[in-house]
Amino acid sequence: MPSRNFDRLKQKKLFLFDIDGTIAVGDTLYPGSADLLSYIDRIGGSSYFITNNSTKSGVDYVEKFHRAYHLDTTEGQFVTSGYMTLRFLLENYSGKVIYVMGTSSFIEDLRRSGLFITETCRPDIACVVVAYDSELTYDKLCETSRVLFTTDAPFYATNPDLRCPVDFGFIPDCGAICGLLTVTTGKHPVYLGKPSEKVVELCLSRSGFSREETLVVGDRLYTDIACGINGGVETCVLFTGEAQKKDLQDTPYRPDYAFENVMELYLACAGSNA
Ligand SMILES: [Mg+2]
Repeated sequence: MPSRNFDRLKQKKLFLFDIDGTIAVGDTLYPGSADLLSYIDRIGGSSYFITNNSTKSGVDYVEKFHRAYHLDTTEGQFVTSGYMTLRFLLENYSGKVIYVMGTSSFIEDLRRSGLFITETCRPDIACVVVAYDSELTYDKLCETSRVLFTTDAPFYATNPDLRCPVDFGFIPDCGAICGLLTVTTGKHPVYLGKPSEKVVELCLSRSGFSREETLVVGDRLYTDIACGINGGVETCVLFTGEAQKKDLQDTPYRPDYAFENVMELYLACAGSNA
């Protein structure tokens, strides 16, 4: 069971927050989120927002946080799976042919950064990238299958999330789309967003805090909590999104702390200074 000793929580300075289901849902900020963020400012800490949503950029999020949550943030505080993918491709595949299955706006963003992107099969493809794709067609799935069958190009994807919450329930996310390709081709992607340890490493190097001072906070065990574990930092699950208490009994991704909601986490961190 997660720890009930909060002394180490009071030492945390760098907080890596998931957004949806953790500090907010849609346009609604959860009670306690603003209190926790201003507490982190007060103690000289840093907050980063790590999200597997690849459809929004850091600039989009700064605007949304201001408009919907009345929170002032900077672009550098947002680490999205789309951003992690772009960084990875620039570091490893600049000047090479990259096959992408994703939305036209995602592909445009990659092209604007100078990457060479193709959406059709060709023999010189250096890697395959799959993203959440709200414009997915059967033709695209066939073309991607062709690439995976006829080339040895490494297979990457933005994020393993299987489903994405909407007002009536859920819709398929990138992990479910990759599931179609994996059962068809037998190939498994390497995911570049959470739970990759690189997400934690980027935030550590940007902020200058140590692993001991860092906490990952999220609502999904196989992305958020797994990301903290992979990155070697402590983790906290909140039960305001996907994970439920019963899920903690049988998971390889065990958080160090568990709270009902972000307000409870704030009170545990701030203690008598709340
Ligand atoms: Mg979430």
